[in-house]
Amino acid sequence: MALIVQKYGGSSVGTTALIKNVATRVAAYRQRGDQLVVVVSAMSGVTDNLIRLAKDIMPLPSEREMDMLLATGEQTTIALTAMALHAMGVPAVSLTGAQAGIVTDGVHTKAKIQNITPRKVHALLNSGHVVIVAGFQGQTPEGQITTLGRGGSDLTAIALAAALKADLCEIYTDVDGVYTADPRIVPKARKIEEIAYDELLELAGAGAKVMQLRSVEFAKKFRVTFEVRSSLSGNPGTIVKEETKSMEDVVIRGVSLDKNQAKVTLTGVPDRPGTAARVFRALAEAAINVDMIIQNVSHGTGAPTTDLSFTVDKPDLLKAHKVIEALRKELNFRQIIANESIGKLSIVGVGMRSHSGIAARMFDTLAREGINIDMISTSEIKISVTVELAKAEAATRAVHAAFLES
Ligand code: ADP
Ligand code: ASP
Ligand code: MG
Repeated sequence: MALIVQKYGGSSVGTTALIKNVATRVAAYRQRGDQLVVVVSAMSGVTDNLIRLAKDIMPLPSEREMDMLLATGEQTTIALTAMALHAMGVPAVSLTGAQAGIVTDGVHTKAKIQNITPRKVHALLNSGHVVIVAGFQGQTPEGQITTLGRGGSDLTAIALAAALKADLCEIYTDVDGVYTADPRIVPKARKIEEIAYDELLELAGAGAKVMQLRSVEFAKKFRVTFEVRSSLSGNPGTIVKEETKSMEDVVIRGVSLDKNQAKVTLTGVPDRPGTAARVFRALAEAAINVDMIIQNVSHGTGAPTTDLSFTVDKPDLLKAHKVIEALRKELNFRQIIANESIGKLSIVGVGMRSHSGIAARMFDTLAREGINIDMISTSEIKISVTVELAKAEAATRAVHAAFLES
């Protein structure tokens, strides 16, 4: 008998027919004698729709009330999933995040899990129940409802698997596993059999939304091995685990494209100590995440000036513009230029550490396609470039073909 945590994402519970399909799979596992904790997301589109309703009332709603609202999406699904199991004669009980013992800090809309006390979950499992837990939500020690950031049901599942010391953690979604690229953009993308935490972290951080970034961080920290697989087939999925020696044989594990970044350029910035610190401190104080940063060598005689570019998440662009504009007098730069038409293309693989010439091959590929590279940044296992948004998908396919289709 194994203790298994399964998570079903929004597209896997998008209709009552799909919820019945989930119940059938769960019932089959239980038939084998396994104990099951099933984490479910809101039905697909529900969370987006709730956000739309809130923004219709006011553009910047209270984050406490947002959490109160968004938590309802998952609550619908847990009750329906429990009912679908009851209809099949399987004893099941649904629990909210709070009832499952998930305690978070008080940062509404992106709360962090502080601890999990799964007493109720254990008791229900021991009395023969399937336990259905609402993903994406928790409760502060003071009893406030919180949510864990978009895609947060992945984190609920991984954290519960760690807390329960589960034998297996399965993340069910609408694709067969983690692919070498988003199959919606690159039709020739292939399923990856095994991937290291660090590789999936870099891919998720670079825009591959197949797993929530924070859930992979959590899995790495607590060494939770998990499998990403399809709720619609019996195909084996992708195993996500600690790096093994043989993983370095593959140079590039995957490619990802982030279309959610925007570039800000400050021109004519006086080149003197403290300027960059001032800009990025102001952005940090406004809780704006900066990703890539590029500063040109300074030019001009007398008082040299330079150009400074950085990227932020698109929804933060207006706020970033405001923050920088407020520094104009103090810093005396010439101009702020904002560009939303960029795509960030990344290649990722632990094999990069032991292979050379990867960057040159990526840049050659883009050059042959007539695609201009704007910004470049690298980590030990990742190379990212920004390119014109209109050419970004073609660029992704070309780079995928060069590294992953031979
Ligand atoms: P769920 O609702 O199950 O949480 P998501 O929509 O969050 O599912 O994630 C699955 C989607 O992630 C896929 O449909 C796919 O388009 C997208 N995706 C992006 N990059 C990848 C990748 N490298 N491998 C697989 N899927 C990816
Ligand atoms: N329903 C939430 C979202 O859409 C959480 C999740 O699906 O994981 O972001
Ligand atoms: Mg998801």
